Amino acid sequence: MSAARIATPDVRRPVAVLAGQPTSDGAGVKLTRVIGQQRLPDLDPFLMLDEFRSDDAKDYIAGFPDHPHRGFETVTYMLAGRMRHGDNKGNRGLLRPGSVQWMTAGRGIVHSELPEQEDGLMWGFQLWVNLPARDKLCEPRYQEIAPEEIPEVDAAGGGRVRVIAGRFAGTAGPISGVATDPTYLDVALPASGRFAHDLPTAHNAFLYVFEGSVEIGEQKIARGRIAVLSRGDRIEIESREGGRLILLAGEPLGEPVAKYGPFVMNTVEELRQAVEDFQAGRF
Ligand code: MN
Repeated sequence: MSAARIATPDVRRPVAVLAGQPTSDGAGVKLTRVIGQQRLPDLDPFLMLDEFRSDDAKDYIAGFPDHPHRGFETVTYMLAGRMRHGDNKGNRGLLRPGSVQWMTAGRGIVHSELPEQEDGLMWGFQLWVNLPARDKLCEPRYQEIAPEEIPEVDAAGGGRVRVIAGRFAGTAGPISGVATDPTYLDVALPASGRFAHDLPTAHNAFLYVFEGSVEIGEQKIARGRIAVLSRGDRIEIESREGGRLILLAGEPLGEPVAKYGPFVMNTVEELRQAVEDFQAGRF
């Protein structure tokens, strides 16, 4: 007679907890680089994560004037403030608090992201998600999601979860058709709140705390810190004082990454081609 085996879920643990690095980008926007800094150059398929947060207009007013992208996706999630977006294909949009823009740059766009305000708090995230080699030169695509189109779920344990991409407790987020099958959740926990969620075992995952603090097991993760998570089936989070975080997961591509500023390809030759195409006005 063989002993019965009860499968226990493999709970993901923090393998690194790091603070972001203050820097500036665009025309002088102050921000905190969380992924894409020296200590965390990337986290396949995520290439970059910035948090921008300031109520001093000098820190953001210059915005991000016309600049190109090729070979990946930029994802902007606004928490406060308004950003005007426009590109060289005639697409226009206004990012309001609580909205998401998921832009698949593909073969190339030239766009600008400029504040639609002269004072007040500007707060949000920009995430860069890599595209697989087969999709790097795809047609550009926008998914513009209004705040009211993002479902909010009251979770067991007292949390409130905004589902941007992937699924949570049977609710699917509005973002669709992304190659790396991402999960993007905004999780708010009250004091003494708990949160648990199953994530695909092979996906890379991280969380970034942007209010209060949370604990995973004995490890505390304070505001402004990213926790890179081990592989596993499940994440379990508690919060003694209350906290809010974004939780991201995606399928790693395992392909070579060649980066040059706003271009992310697989080889140096493809980067050279990207610069040449941009300079020749072929975006
Ligand atoms: Mn951009």
